[in-house]
Amino acid sequence: MALVVQKYGGTSLGNIEKIKVVANRVRETHQKGNGVIVVVSAMAGETDRLLSLAKDITAQPDEREQDVLASTGEQVSCALLTMALKSLSIKSISYVAHQVKIRTDNAFGKARILDVDSKRITRDLRDRKVVVIAGFQGIDDKGNITTLGRGGSDTSAVAIATAAKADICEIYTDVEGVFTTDPNICPEARKLNRISYDEMLEMASLGAKVLQTRSVEFAKKYQIPIHVRSTFSDRTGTIVTREDKDMESVIVSGVTYNKDEAKITVTKIPDRPGIASKLFTPISNANIIVDMIIQNVSADGFTDLTFTVPKADYKKALELVQITAKEINAKEVLADPSIAKVSIVGAGMRSHSGVASAMFTALANEGINIMMISTSEIKISCVIESKYTELAVRVLHNTFCLGENNDLKN
Ligand code: ADP
Ligand code: ASP
Ligand code: MG
Repeated sequence: MALVVQKYGGTSLGNIEKIKVVANRVRETHQKGNGVIVVVSAMAGETDRLLSLAKDITAQPDEREQDVLASTGEQVSCALLTMALKSLSIKSISYVAHQVKIRTDNAFGKARILDVDSKRITRDLRDRKVVVIAGFQGIDDKGNITTLGRGGSDTSAVAIATAAKADICEIYTDVEGVFTTDPNICPEARKLNRISYDEMLEMASLGAKVLQTRSVEFAKKYQIPIHVRSTFSDRTGTIVTREDKDMESVIVSGVTYNKDEAKITVTKIPDRPGIASKLFTPISNANIIVDMIIQNVSADGFTDLTFTVPKADYKKALELVQITAKEINAKEVLADPSIAKVSIVGAGMRSHSGVASAMFTALANEGINIMMISTSEIKISCVIESKYTELAVRVLHNTFCLGENNDLKN
């Protein structure tokens, strides 16, 4: 029999009825003789509600206390699901992070899991108990509660699957798997039967929030297969796994968008060695992740520099950049939070030319201006005005024929 980790997202646990549906699903797997570890998110909307309470107190809540607050959502769903299982006469036990020692670094709000002690879990599994664990949270080496960033329960699930040596990590959500693009904004989106870790990694990091990026990094590193599927149907979903030959023959597998970044431009920077380091060191010291960076060609000894940061860190980044800009005698700092990044992802791009120009032409035909471009081996991203996001996604999905049944993976 297998050891299965099942992670249920917030929408799957949105109310008591849904929690009972989940309990029945867990029971089914358990009654087949499998060992079952369940990782839960907070009930739908709860994390947003908690974070907005903090914002009602102060615009910049203390990061440690914010994690103490945000982590409570998962404790509630963890207890409720375990009660539901017990009322179905399934032996089960709930745990929050410190009880199973989900150890993280101390980056509040975006902590990284270092390790999980599986001893207690293994003992419970041996007693045929279903172990229900609160996702999204950990503890640092001083015993502080930390959280793993939005969508972090996916990463909790994969890390726990790794530590417990599970056979599979199932991610249950409100859609039937990983689609060619967000099915909620593009009705033609098609479910993928399989996707490689690398493509999924790009899709997740470029905005396909169906899996948190770090969960895919973890799964790739430890070769844990992930099955993304719906809580509300029995159909097979998408298997995230190692790349095989068939996958390479697909040029573009998906289109993603991300509205959670903001753009900062520093103009007329004196162009001399050390300037970029001066600008970005304070930002990196503040644990802010910079995504795209563009530096213009120098003219008359001056240059402009544009970069993007997560919207959540944008005000902090702006303050830091304004200080440095003064020190280095730059002309001004411009900020634009109304941007979106649209991207196309595909393993086959490595060996095909013309993909970028097809993308740029498709956007140009709709009158969509491209503000920034970045590429890697298997993706191309463009920053555009956020009001065009949905249009751009649909146009690109259509341009690369993703709605049609031309996918060798299926
Ligand atoms: P959960 O609460 O289960 O963690 P999330 O809201 O985090 O669910 O993730 C599921 C959502 O991800 C879907 O409802 C869908 O709108 C969105 N999504 C974005 N891109 C994709 C994609 N390529 N495939 C599937 N879902 C996607
Ligand atoms: N509850 C957290 C969030 O809303 C973590 C998760 O759902 O994965 O981001
Ligand atoms: Mg999620």
